[in-house]
Amino acid sequence: MFSKLARGLARTRENLAASIRGVLGGGALDEASVEDLEATLLAADLGPTLTDELIEAVRKSARGSDGEEIRESMRRTLREALPDVDAGSAGERRPRVVFVVGVNGGGKTTTVGKLAALERAAGRRVVVVAADTFRAAAIDQLERWTERAGVELIKQKEGSDPAAVVFDALQSVRKREVDTVLVDTAGRLHTKVNLMAELSKLARVASREVPGAPHEVLLIVDATTGQNGLTQAEEFTRAAELTGVVLTKLDGTAKGGVALAIHRALGLPIRYVGVGEGTDDLLPFDPDAFVEGLLG
Ligand code: GDP
Repeated sequence: MFSKLARGLARTRENLAASIRGVLGGGALDEASVEDLEATLLAADLGPTLTDELIEAVRKSARGSDGEEIRESMRRTLREALPDVDAGSAGERRPRVVFVVGVNGGGKTTTVGKLAALERAAGRRVVVVAADTFRAAAIDQLERWTERAGVELIKQKEGSDPAAVVFDALQSVRKREVDTVLVDTAGRLHTKVNLMAELSKLARVASREVPGAPHEVLLIVDATTGQNGLTQAEEFTRAAELTGVVLTKLDGTAKGGVALAIHRALGLPIRYVGVGEGTDDLLPFDPDAFVEGLLG
């Protein structure tokens, strides 16, 4: 039985496996297959730095060793490139306010819906806030997700001021027993500058209503956009104090290595990965399982 994560990483893993077999197959290490492996690692979007480190590790362990050792050294290098899961980060604050940010189409709204379902399943009281007021479709979509998850949605009409939506929502949850507030934010405004200014404004409003809010700012990165996602991520780090990344659409891509490139470039932990469009297709990130899923 393959896990959902392993299935999501299948395309990335299959490409890697073929190149790794090439390196292992020939007895002595031949240059052509090392170059092939290097190209495959880059195509998997592991990024140039980590690719160099992996090739270095392969060369070192290849000296007088069997194939298993080469594979093991790759496994070690990949694992060391990912941080351990910080289990204590959720903290005791209540409500915990979580902003979900990212460009349109990346899977922001879907992820908010899946997160609401996960929180709910963990027995927490969840409220979702529709602060992407620029698209009526986003509000409708959230409505369907929250209905399915049995979670309350706080919304206003399309075109309302997102800061007012967040303000009103936090005012109302402060008086109630709520554990988690998930805020869906806009992914596009008239200009990028506006978008970034809007995000900082939302954060200011939230921090005035709930101490320490937003406690988490999760950036949605679409894995199928590979290194482009990384460039977007860098822009968002300038506007918001991101605390983690959700890597979506891992199921549709052979570029699963971008998880490691993002962590390497931004120093942000990957919190969750999206492996499909269903409610239970969001998995808390597990670095060991991820490396296992990449190398098999
Ligand atoms: P938003 O514009 O960022 O809010 O993006 P949406 O949440 O509307 O998602 C855009 C599309 O991506 C939708 O068709 C989603 O079903 C799809 N999607 C989101 N996450 C995943 C995922 O993990 N895997 C797959 N295959 N599709 C996803």
